[in-house]
Amino acid sequence: MPEPMLRHVAVIGAGIEGAASAVELLRAGHRVTVLEPGEPGGPQAASFGNAGWLSSHSVLPPSAPGLWRQVPGFLRDPLGPLALRWRYLPKAAPWLLRYIAAGSSEERLRRIAHSLRPLLKDSPVLHASLAREAGVPELIEHKGLMNAWHSRAGFEAEGMGWRLRREVGISWTEIEERALRAAEPDLDPAYRFAVLTEEAGRCLSPGRYIAALAAHAVREGAALRKVAATGFRLEGRSLTGVALSDGTVLDCDAAVICCGARSAPLAAGLGDRVPLETERGYHVMLRGAERGPRHSISLGAAKMIVNPMADGLRAAGQVEIAGLEGAPNWRRAEVLRDHLLRAFPGLPNPFPEDRITTWLGHRPSTPDGMPCLGPSSRCPEVIHAFGHGHVGLVAGPRTGRVVAQLLSGRAPEIDIAPFSPTRFRKPLL
Ligand SMILES: Cc1cc2nc3c(=O)[nH]c(=O)nc-3n(C[C@H](O)[C@H](O)[C@H](O)COP(=O)(O)OP(=O)(O)OC[C@H]3O[C@@H](n4cnc5c(N)ncnc54)[C@H](O)[C@@H]3O)c2cc1C
Repeated sequence: MPEPMLRHVAVIGAGIEGAASAVELLRAGHRVTVLEPGEPGGPQAASFGNAGWLSSHSVLPPSAPGLWRQVPGFLRDPLGPLALRWRYLPKAAPWLLRYIAAGSSEERLRRIAHSLRPLLKDSPVLHASLAREAGVPELIEHKGLMNAWHSRAGFEAEGMGWRLRREVGISWTEIEERALRAAEPDLDPAYRFAVLTEEAGRCLSPGRYIAALAAHAVREGAALRKVAATGFRLEGRSLTGVALSDGTVLDCDAAVICCGARSAPLAAGLGDRVPLETERGYHVMLRGAERGPRHSISLGAAKMIVNPMADGLRAAGQVEIAGLEGAPNWRRAEVLRDHLLRAFPGLPNPFPEDRITTWLGHRPSTPDGMPCLGPSSRCPEVIHAFGHGHVGLVAGPRTGRVVAQLLSGRAPEIDIAPFSPTRFRKPLL
């Protein structure tokens, strides 16, 4: 077999996709320079403040049949689980129409579930292995994830989603009221039914984990530069360099676009105009919480995830369409805090302000909830690895492996055709 060509790869962005790609590219023998204007895994990255779910069962997009009927309500209620800012609506409208269309039928959801499953499968095992390599094995736990509702009816109302999950090979255990009380004694007794998806796992500090992966990449030989990428230098269809925000050009012969919600302009420069929007989300963290869950739980009534993490109890969720530059609406984090205090009534209420922190982050979201993963249209040595929306953390390890396989001239280990950036070229109607 011919030796794979070894390249100098610029990894643009050090969230989970960039950090995992850097580690895998180094493993394949490539030279790597990571470009990141902030700290790897720092609070500017979605990878910092997410819910930490390694939910290999998250195979469905956020959009679902009938969503369009709810849009007027979302516009009226700025504090519901999905909010649209009026002023931003004209800009977001084309993306929103595609978002609604992506989840408009069971058949569409089925196609997405079958496409996403191979990307997410085994994620907790892959994360555990990366965390061990990076010297932080304690940050990944593989004991299942729980979804809880006030009654079995809540679970049944999401029946199509769970049916599709079963279809792609996911299984779970149902937990009735008494067993739920025993498993989660601090949870509000109004929650009476849950399911535990045993194959899933969780991260106990996403920010620290990404920072550790990036530090590991540096120990393995990667260079880390605190600059942003601004464009590409091409000769014909070949990459010769990446233009940087300090006015210089990094000489390199391959690159990975993995700068999360800010990836679209770079991708457009290579012929791929991708509808990428930020689905803004929030978290609230309670330090030194006296009570809380034993598992990480998605609370159906509050539409948020609660995860007992290394640095405190985190509640994360909400989807706000208001752009990358719109001011945060911290009321949304307060909504999460209030849901959290209601869900665990043993917590002091009000909770001491000096033990609360809040965060706003930008999910890099395509309308169909699937990433762009594959070569760019104009230059095959620039790989798109962005747009992971709600599943960027769980998809990170396999994304990194696929990036390394593509740049090593090997066939990717999963079918990436559904993730082609060109899939949005077709008009919606
Ligand atoms: C509230 C919330 C909860 C979530 N919960 C989960 C969950 O439980 N499980 C899950 O799997 N996913 C979850 N997600 C989604 C997940 O966090 C994201 O999909 C994922 O972090 C995206 O990773 P990324 O590496 O693509 O982008 P990011 O983590 O955003 O990283 C991009 C990096 O690129 C850098 N950058 C930007 N522009 C440039 C440039 N021009 N040049 C160089 N660098 C640049 C940025 O500084 C940043 O560090 C959640 C998201 C939110 C907001």
